[in-house]
Amino acid sequence: MRKLNTIDYPGKLCMGLTIAGCNYRCPFCPHAELIHDYIPMEKTSMDDLVQTLRPRLGFLDGVSIDGGEPLLHRGLVDFLKELKFQGSLVKLKTNASRPNLVRLLIDKRFVDYFSVFMPAPLSKYKEVINYRIDVKEIISSIQIIRKSGISHEFRVKPVPGLIEEPELLEIANYLAGAPRLVIERFKPESSMDEEYRSLSAFSEAELKGLQDLVAPYFNETVIRS
Ligand code: SF4
Repeated sequence: MRKLNTIDYPGKLCMGLTIAGCNYRCPFCPHAELIHDYIPMEKTSMDDLVQTLRPRLGFLDGVSIDGGEPLLHRGLVDFLKELKFQGSLVKLKTNASRPNLVRLLIDKRFVDYFSVFMPAPLSKYKEVINYRIDVKEIISSIQIIRKSGISHEFRVKPVPGLIEEPELLEIANYLAGAPRLVIERFKPESSMDEEYRSLSAFSEAELKGLQDLVAPYFNETVIRS
């Protein structure tokens, strides 16, 4: 829990929450401990989170929920219901692997802003995430979000040798017309896969070049840590 997050939800002040566990195994994932070692970690209960948030809603707009993959958590729907009851805005990050849950959350109006991580273009998706998934599930989630009219953004992470110009262009072509693309910086030293820790990160100039490449496909692009 971060009691103040000023960057995740555009234009909003939020409390930031991180939910452990993910079904994917992206080699560049910077959250290995959240994926592999979360069972002994100290947890915060839903009641404690709500108690912490409630007095802050006077100056906070809401909650930004990150992962891992938050949609795997069995308590998520009840938690979001409580957040909405408290009058909180909710931004939710997801890897788009659970379209039925995405639809449910939209139907119930439990989420105000989706941030969808695209670890790879669809043609390379399973190879990158190291997890057996029907790519139709990803397509379905993305279609549901884009057609819903709900505020959203997509996120990508350029990684040398894996997600470079061709992959970013394929993603940009597929998502063309989306409101916002966030380009996340790859931090080799914190990669889940040891082999990726010895890679060099893209320089600022290289990232800017990649941003210029995909910018025409989106209303807005930003580079972020
Ligand atoms: S989807 Fe995100 S949290 Fe999950 S393994 Fe990939 S980078 Fe890590």
